[in-house]
Amino acid sequence: MVCSHLHTDHCGCNEFFRKSTIVVHARELEAAKASDAAKSGYFVADWDHPMPMKTIDGQLDLFGDGKVVLVPLHGHTPGTIGALIRLDRDGKFLLASDALSIRTNLDRNIVPKNTHNPEQFLKSFEEIRRIEKDGATIICSHDESQWETLRKGMDAYD
Ligand SMILES: [Zn+2]
Repeated sequence: MVCSHLHTDHCGCNEFFRKSTIVVHARELEAAKASDAAKSGYFVADWDHPMPMKTIDGQLDLFGDGKVVLVPLHGHTPGTIGALIRLDRDGKFLLASDALSIRTNLDRNIVPKNTHNPEQFLKSFEEIRRIEKDGATIICSHDESQWETLRKGMDAYD
C-alpha cells in the first residue's frame, strides 16, 4: 500500500490492511516522527502499525514494469509523493494526492494555506505540468467537480 503522505485523510485506515507493506517517502516518515508532528497534522495512531514499512528516497518504479511509478511531489508535506499509473487501455494517470488537491490551484498557481513548503510545492506544480504535457491525466485528491467527471464502477478505467 502506497501512502502519498501521512495526513489522517490519506493513511487513517492503514490499520485495516494487516497483510500490507506500507510504502512511504523517508522524509515523510521522518516528519511524522518529529516531536511536534501533531502540529503539522500527523498522528501516531494513523501510521504507526505492526505492518512493515518501506521507505523510498526518490522516484521508484514500484514493480519494475513501469506501471506504477512513485514520483516525488514534495511541498504539501516534506515527503508527499504521487503515483504515475500506466494502464493497458486508458493510458497514463497521475494520482497527484495533495500535491494538487483541486485543479484550480494548478491553473491559477495557487498555493493553499496548509502548505509545508510553498517553494517546493510550486516546483511540484512544474513536475505535474510536465507529466500532463507528456500525456497523463492528472487526478486531484479533493476535487469534487473533477470526481463527477471520472469514470467509476463497472465503467472504470483499465
Ligand atoms: Zn494532506
